[in-house]
Amino acid sequence: MLKKTRMAALGAAAAIALAACSSGDGETADVDAGDFPEGSTMATLAEAGSITIGTKFDQPLFGLLAPSGDPEGFDVEIGKIIAGELGISEDNIEWVETVSANREPFIQDGSVDIVVATYTINDDRKELISFAGPYYNAGQALMVLADNEDITSPDDLAGKNVCSVEGSTPAQNIADNYPDAELSLFAAYTDCLEPLRNGQVDVVTTDNVILAGYVAEDDAFKVAGEPFTEEPYGIGLTREDTEFRNWINDVLEEIFEDGRWLEAWNETAGTVLPEPEQPTVDRYEVS
Ligand code: GLU
Repeated sequence: MLKKTRMAALGAAAAIALAACSSGDGETADVDAGDFPEGSTMATLAEAGSITIGTKFDQPLFGLLAPSGDPEGFDVEIGKIIAGELGISEDNIEWVETVSANREPFIQDGSVDIVVATYTINDDRKELISFAGPYYNAGQALMVLADNEDITSPDDLAGKNVCSVEGSTPAQNIADNYPDAELSLFAAYTDCLEPLRNGQVDVVTTDNVILAGYVAEDDAFKVAGEPFTEEPYGIGLTREDTEFRNWINDVLEEIFEDGRWLEAWNETAGTVLPEPEQPTVDRYEVS
């Protein structure tokens, strides 16, 4: 929960003007710690006036570090809305890069308060952390060079060099179900782009919407075939904190209803991708 110091460098008037218009789509709610149950994570964060959010820094449309030094994208907007509902303005969000493999450890060791990072809800991860959501449903897909006509489904991957990321569900799926593929794993999806461009790998695999971001930036690539898994995106948080999870789920249901979810989508991923169906929040029991 580190505060940004950028505001300190600004004159007071400029700081106030910036604060007034800085909440973006996530308006900062007029709340304070006393509006939340005593001792709750919501009260603690509202009291601190800051929140640390893990997101991706290299995924256009969802979480991409901008020249401003802050990330941009649909996940980032969802994070800003949650912060705003705690009375925390955008300037008091500490953004931390979470790659696929460090999301659970960063939640478990308290490096981040929440993770909003194209993060698939699944049972293995639910053993370690918990998830609010889903707030979006993606699916695993394949990306190849634009002139590649050989690969259109995961059944075409035998003997092919396939690039993905450590600690991701798409990599696990290839390892488990397509063992004849030659799988190379890196820390982040952008590590796969040069190898694809220069022919060291034949395919990059992850969620369709992440791949769509890379294709939108570079027409040397294309998405091949259709998505072949379900990847419901959740907001990761501490496993035992059901009170905080319920509250985030309430926020999600509210923004599905009042149009803020769609607005956040339209301004980010929606510039490239079609309008998604609204998911249904899953308030599962932590055993
Ligand atoms: N949604 C998948 C996952 O959580 C792939 C995307 C990612 O690695 O962030 O593993």
